[in-house]
Amino acid sequence: MSRFRRLLLVLLPLLLLLLPLLADARPGGGEGYSGGGGGSSGGGGGDGDGGFVFLLIELWLRFVFRHPLIGIPLTILILYLFAKAKKKGLLDKPAGWDSTRARQRPPAPAAPQPSRALEAVRAFDPDFSAVLFEDFAYTLYASAHRARTDPRALDALRPYLSDAARATLAQLPPQGTPVVAVVVGALRVLDVRLPPPGTTPARVQVSLELETNLTTGAAGSEQTWYVVERWHLQRDAGVRTKPPAQVASLHCPKCGAPFAPADDPNRCSYCAEVVTGGRFDWSVETIEPLRREARPPALTGTVQEVGTGWATVFQPDLAARQAELQKDDPAAGDEALAARVRLIYDQLNTAWTAMDLAPIRPYVSDQLFDYLQYWIESYRRQGLRNVLVGMRLTELKRVKVVRDRWYDAVTFRIWGTGRDSTVRVATGDVVGGNPHTDRNYSEYWTFIRGAGVHGAARADKACPNCAAPLETNMSGACTYCGAKVTSGQFDWVLSKIEQDEAYTG
Ligand SMILES: [Zn+2]
Ligand SMILES: [Zn+2]
Repeated sequence: MSRFRRLLLVLLPLLLLLLPLLADARPGGGEGYSGGGGGSSGGGGGDGDGGFVFLLIELWLRFVFRHPLIGIPLTILILYLFAKAKKKGLLDKPAGWDSTRARQRPPAPAAPQPSRALEAVRAFDPDFSAVLFEDFAYTLYASAHRARTDPRALDALRPYLSDAARATLAQLPPQGTPVVAVVVGALRVLDVRLPPPGTTPARVQVSLELETNLTTGAAGSEQTWYVVERWHLQRDAGVRTKPPAQVASLHCPKCGAPFAPADDPNRCSYCAEVVTGGRFDWSVETIEPLRREARPPALTGTVQEVGTGWATVFQPDLAARQAELQKDDPAAGDEALAARVRLIYDQLNTAWTAMDLAPIRPYVSDQLFDYLQYWIESYRRQGLRNVLVGMRLTELKRVKVVRDRWYDAVTFRIWGTGRDSTVRVATGDVVGGNPHTDRNYSEYWTFIRGAGVHGAARADKACPNCAAPLETNMSGACTYCGAKVTSGQFDWVLSKIEQDEAYTG
């Protein structure tokens, strides 16, 4: 025992000698903006002890190199004492030590699960709208990528893109080749962080993951890129969401004029206000490129349908939300809406198979239309056609109702079946799916309508504004009365289609 004590007496001064070295032995160590997403599960503990031992060894080696005259004899002495102590069993762990400690240690607190509820932002901003926010994110994403090879265009987005975000965009490959088309395939909310009470500056932070297809290069030499990026946005907690038209403009968030930088590039040359950094609207602080692959979308082959049998994801307070909506608009019941869902379902499948989306244009939002159009173009470019035959909607359930200042949104889970195959147009060869048997599937469909719009959903093909036979131009305006019926300002329009495996509620 006395030897063990002696070992400690030797070790203690050594540790004191090492202390000055500790200070410069922690490279970085900061936490960084680590993306705040992904399954941040339990973790915690485990390799901490091992890390400390390595640190001590590293420090000791440095010490020996710096002071070899003391260090080398001391090392020999320590090794000698260590060997002796080991021989006598002094360093063996008492039996059960680990388990005892484990029992005494309080359970490691689970890492807080990031909140994905955009709706929570409304606690700070009563005008906040998830529909509008996502629209803004799509618009900004597309504008930012289209501007990335043009410094002046990129500069005009300063209120919405930090210096770091613009620098990341400008450096994305293929450098100097303009982005000519942007389609957002999926937008996932990874993390919504609200400022704890009393923090200054109080900021709301939202992290998004976007899965997109970008087309670069001029006509004839286009290239398609599959891209995944994480965008980290922030906004001062006191900022209120602006009306839809202004949100989509990406103009100066203070005065609404097209943004042009003043001498101080963070000021608007029109209103002279500093409008960057999330002071007046959302600003992207950092962009993390995760994946970039040069490849056209894969359209052939048969992909197993995932999640059709999974439990339906219901909003926890669905009944109360639905009751609220129906109190405001008694015509917003399941049956009236279901008739419109069926109409849109049939129109969509027909238009899709015909590869002509004009008939579906009046029923889908601009964003969803662009998305559908992109896929049709991709099929066309590869000489393929996705043939849907005998499609029918077998069941639908309302799963979510969200109301905000600008929109009402209703999500249904729909189940359908039908024969789904992909053929090569020139030869008629089947290159995917099965044209002979029904394939069951389910999806989550979200419909939006302007807040304050009331009345039964139309289930006929008539303009919801002028009642003429419904026909719109490609921007969604009725060819008779000119009303933009796809904005949701007249009737419910389909704004989102999500697969089982992507839907999180
Ligand atoms: Zn301004
Ligand atoms: Zn009309």
